[in-house]
Amino acid sequence: MKIVLFTGDGIGPEISAATNTVLTTVRDHLSLDLDVEVQPVGLSELDAHGTTAPSVVWDLVEECDGAILAPLSTYAYPPLDKGGINLSSEFRTKLDLTSNIRPCASLCETGRAMDLVVVRENTEGFYAVRTMYQGAGEFMPDPDSAFALRKITRLATRRVATTAFELAAERRKKVSVIHKANVLKLSDGLFLDEVRQVSNQFPTVELEEVLVDAAASLLVRDPSAFDVVLTSNMFGDILSNLTAELSGGLGLGPSLNVGDDFAVAQASHGSAPDIAGQNIANPTALILSSAMLLDWYGNQSSASRKPYLMAGTAIKSAVKEVLAQPSDRTRDVGGRRSTNEFASAVCRALSVAVASA
Ligand code: ATP
Repeated sequence: MKIVLFTGDGIGPEISAATNTVLTTVRDHLSLDLDVEVQPVGLSELDAHGTTAPSVVWDLVEECDGAILAPLSTYAYPPLDKGGINLSSEFRTKLDLTSNIRPCASLCETGRAMDLVVVRENTEGFYAVRTMYQGAGEFMPDPDSAFALRKITRLATRRVATTAFELAAERRKKVSVIHKANVLKLSDGLFLDEVRQVSNQFPTVELEEVLVDAAASLLVRDPSAFDVVLTSNMFGDILSNLTAELSGGLGLGPSLNVGDDFAVAQASHGSAPDIAGQNIANPTALILSSAMLLDWYGNQSSASRKPYLMAGTAIKSAVKEVLAQPSDRTRDVGGRRSTNEFASAVCRALSVAVASA
C-alpha cells in the first residue's frame, strides 16, 4: 500500500510527523508492505510554488492507494486566482469522496460514555465552493444582501445513506437521520425521502428521524443513545465537532473521506494556529484517521490485505492504551506529554498491541 501524507498548516506538520512515526513503527512490527510519501501542502508552499497545492499533489494521488491530509488554515489562504487552493474541498469534490465518516467513542474518562459514528455528506449541502459546476453558490446582488444556495441530490444522498446503513448493519443497527425538513421542505424533504428508500434495503437496521435542533440537545443529553448519525454536509460538520468534544475533546476525533475507490484520512479538527509550533498538539485524531485508512484498505476484499486490518486494530489499541494513563496524555486532555512524547508512547504500546491484533 502506498499512502501520501500531506502535512498541512498550523499544527499539521507536527501531528503529521507523529502519525508518520506511528505508521512506520506498525509497518516494521508487522513487516507490512507500506510506503508513506510525505508532501508539504498549504501556506508553506505559496512562496515557492505560487499555490497552496503544487501540481505534484495530483500526481501523488494518482500513484497512491490512499491519502492523509493534515489540517489546513484555509481562512488564511489568498483567493483562488492567487493560489489559495483548499485541498480538503478539492479532494472531496474531484475524487468524489461522498461520505465523511467521523467516529466518536469515549477514549478516556474526560469524555462522556458514547460510541457513535457521524456519517456526513461531503460534496454538496451549503458549502458554496462545492455546489456549483462553475462559480460559487454564494452571491451578493447588492452590497446589503447576500444569498447562499444549498444543494441536495438524490445520487449523493443515496451514496452517503448506503454508507451509513452498511456501517450500522455491522454495529448496533440504528441510523438516526438528522434533518430540518419542516423548514427546508424541498431539499431536506428529498434527503429524507432518499434515506427512507435506502433504509428499505436494510430491514434489520432501525431508522430514526430527528430534527437537527432536537438532535443537538439529545446528543448532549445522552450521546450513548446514538449509533450511526446520518446527515447533510453542514449539519454534520457542526454536530461532529459537538460529538468530538463530548467524547473528550476535539484533538481525539478522527475521520475518513470515502469514495468508490479512494479515501482520504483527515482529523475532524482544524489547524489550531493558536498552539502551532509548540509541540503540544494532540496527534490522536490524525493517528486514528490513519488507522481508519488502513482499515478501509484492508476491507477491500482480497486476503492479502488482512495485515492492514491488523495494523489498524493495533494502532487503535495502542492509542487507547496510552490515553488510559492520564499522565501520558497531551495537555488538551489533561496530561503533560508533548506531541512527540505521546507518539513515542503509542509506538511503545504498539509492540504489545500488534501481538494481540
Ligand atoms: P476549522 O474551522 O479549520 O475546522 P476550528 O475553528 O474548528 O478550525 P480548530 O483549529 O479545530 O478550530 O481549533 C479549535 C480549538 O481546539 C483551538 O483552541 C485549538 O487549539 C484546539 N484544538 C484543535 N485541535 C487540537 C489538537 N489536535 N490538539 C490540541 N488542541 C486542539
